[in-house]
Amino acid sequence: MKITIIGAGISGLLSAYYLVKRGYEVEIFEESNRAGGLIKTMGSPYGPMDYAASSLVNSADFEALFDDIKLEMAQIGKLAKVKNIYRGSMKRWPLNIVETIRFVAGVIKLKRSKDKGLNKGRTIDDWGKQYLGKSGHRYLLETFLQGVYAGDGKKMSASLILSPIFNRKKAKKIKPKVKGSIMPSFGMEQLTERLAKYLQKNDVKIHYSSKVNANDIDLSRPTIIATSAPAAGTLLKGMGIEAGEKLVKHDMLDLASVHLVFNEDKPLFKGFGCLFPVSEGFNCLGILAGKNGFPKEYSQPVERWIIGGAHNRNILLQNDEDIIDLALSDRKRIAGIEEKPIASIVLRRSQSLPHYTPELEEIIDNIKLPPNLHLIGNYLGGIGLSAILKESQKLAVNIEDKKRRSIE
Ligand SMILES: Cc1cc2nc3c(=O)[nH]c(=O)nc-3n(C[C@H](O)[C@H](O)[C@H](O)COP(=O)(O)OP(=O)(O)OC[C@H]3O[C@@H](n4cnc5c(N)ncnc54)[C@H](O)[C@@H]3O)c2cc1C
Repeated sequence: MKITIIGAGISGLLSAYYLVKRGYEVEIFEESNRAGGLIKTMGSPYGPMDYAASSLVNSADFEALFDDIKLEMAQIGKLAKVKNIYRGSMKRWPLNIVETIRFVAGVIKLKRSKDKGLNKGRTIDDWGKQYLGKSGHRYLLETFLQGVYAGDGKKMSASLILSPIFNRKKAKKIKPKVKGSIMPSFGMEQLTERLAKYLQKNDVKIHYSSKVNANDIDLSRPTIIATSAPAAGTLLKGMGIEAGEKLVKHDMLDLASVHLVFNEDKPLFKGFGCLFPVSEGFNCLGILAGKNGFPKEYSQPVERWIIGGAHNRNILLQNDEDIIDLALSDRKRIAGIEEKPIASIVLRRSQSLPHYTPELEEIIDNIKLPPNLHLIGNYLGGIGLSAILKESQKLAVNIEDKKRRSIE
């Protein structure tokens, strides 16, 4: 049985990988002339600079994948596990004792609660304040979710984001050898490039510069749409599937990564990253200090400042100089002094992340797909690569189950 995949981003490539592992014949159609989709790395004399994902949360599955496709993991530094949150200054734990007691009490209450208060339509803001207290919500939950989803806590859906976490089956997990964030030695594009090569070696034909339209889709064989939400919406709409129109129109967020390179090896802060709570009034959502996390991959301190998302809608309308100034003004606030970078590079990704709102949840809940049509992508319950990997494994299992049932 031959399976068609539309899109050679990480979702399409991982889906193809797990299907090939199960012995399926796979063919991929990709609109652009390269694999990777949002994921792209700009090499530089200072180290890799990424347009989208730059690191991923490691798991035994990623370790097995890296081994299998012969991809080297960058060696992690001593500070890789240290993440900070800004509250007046950089802090590893941003709550005071009273707030911490309130937070812990909330977590205990949550553990005992069956439904976890995750009614549909409820926002992160409403849920977080009830369970974690105002400060626990503001400085931990909202800040963390803003760092991952770039959304607005007052508009993000609590059940869409948190249900997968609470409902995770407590199966015995194999622990990875390396805990925490990892990256391929030369940046994230190395993962997608290596995956594409591995697939081609295993007889997967990747047709580049081949945009698929709705009327090209042949549902006599299993087809996986592995694109962004609006692109999937366009295909579904063209196939007469109701949810398509809503997906096309769904709110998407723009992001830019400002890479600032400094001469001196005097880190701005101790740790791999720092997130900025909305209430602290920074321009950026957070910062990653590449050399602190992966010292061998960077010859100079390269800071990646992420800016945009739901609270900064017009960011991509600004020119590079203005975006760099916004990051530098945040930096001055932290460092206390103004320092001139030796290089500054802005990498843009427009309409890159779906806003995880109750509207998105409603669309997903009500998508009715014909047999043989499957969806995967960062709008279906997880934005990060670890969520996408799990979904692509599940998808391969589902396709196999369907095939078995049709034979029986
Ligand atoms: C700034 C930024 C930082 C991020 N940081 C992290 C991070 O540190 N860690 C992490 O885990 N995640 C991170 N992410 C998220 C992660 O990068 C994305 O969720 C993921 O790359 C999405 O991959 P995808 O394959 O689902 O979609 P895409 O990358 O959008 O791929 C879809 C592919 O489908 C193709 N396509 C579309 N329509 C058609 C068509 N009709 N026919 C054929 N082909 C088509 C497109 O050309 C594209 O190649 C970040 C994202 C951004 C924007």
